[in-house]
Amino acid sequence: MRILLTNDDGIHAEGLADLAQAMKKYGEVKVVAPDRERSACGHAMTLRDPLRATKVPYGSCEAWHVNGLPVDCVNIGLRVAFPDGCDLIVSGINHGPNLGFDITYSGTVGGAMEGAINGIRSLALSMFTVAHEAPLHFETASDWIERELGKWLEVELPRRTFLNINIPSIAIPELGETVVTRMGGRVYEDRVEPRTDPWGRTYYWQGGVVVMKPDDPGSDVEAVSLGKVSVTPISLDWTSYPALESLRSQVIPFTHH
Ligand code: MN
Repeated sequence: MRILLTNDDGIHAEGLADLAQAMKKYGEVKVVAPDRERSACGHAMTLRDPLRATKVPYGSCEAWHVNGLPVDCVNIGLRVAFPDGCDLIVSGINHGPNLGFDITYSGTVGGAMEGAINGIRSLALSMFTVAHEAPLHFETASDWIERELGKWLEVELPRRTFLNINIPSIAIPELGETVVTRMGGRVYEDRVEPRTDPWGRTYYWQGGVVVMKPDDPGSDVEAVSLGKVSVTPISLDWTSYPALESLRSQVIPFTHH
């Protein structure tokens, strides 16, 4: 299997190095990742600046860093690293969770989305931590990848659908089962914090306190709160089918003259 790895934490991230090591079990691994941290860039793409791919030493893998975003890395990777085709794209392992609505901001998920748009099986992998400073148990993620990921590479998925996987950052013996979940809710309080600069002018920090809803049954948020690995299928078809039906029943049907 030809496997392209990317992330949004940059080429030097520990999560990416551990992913590269763990994925060797499944095939030929090549890495194309941003040259610096690009978290929360979502599915953005670089259009107005030249992109350069620079080959860098990376253990036993071929690797390039790119002065762009995860989407750029996937598209350049498909040209530079695997010009004859690629079977799997894995984005991660993100240094933090990607749950609920947060996946719309996530560069990690953006990388997997781009893989799915290219018609390639794609996964986003993230570590779920409760607190920002909490330790990242990448050894738990590596262990899960080596033991469990194989079967998720075999499952049948509809077109343009990828898997968003969150692994709780806890010790290996504490890790629970793996469950299939739906996207839950994850909203923030005090999203924008105003502060004052030394000249008395107001500026803003965007961040906020996450409001988890762990009681949301069947959701990604609930699963990781219980110490389980969450696997959510995400479709690139953003159409709301219930709303589609509802809208069609509410409006007067088209009449042809
Ligand atoms: Mn990140």
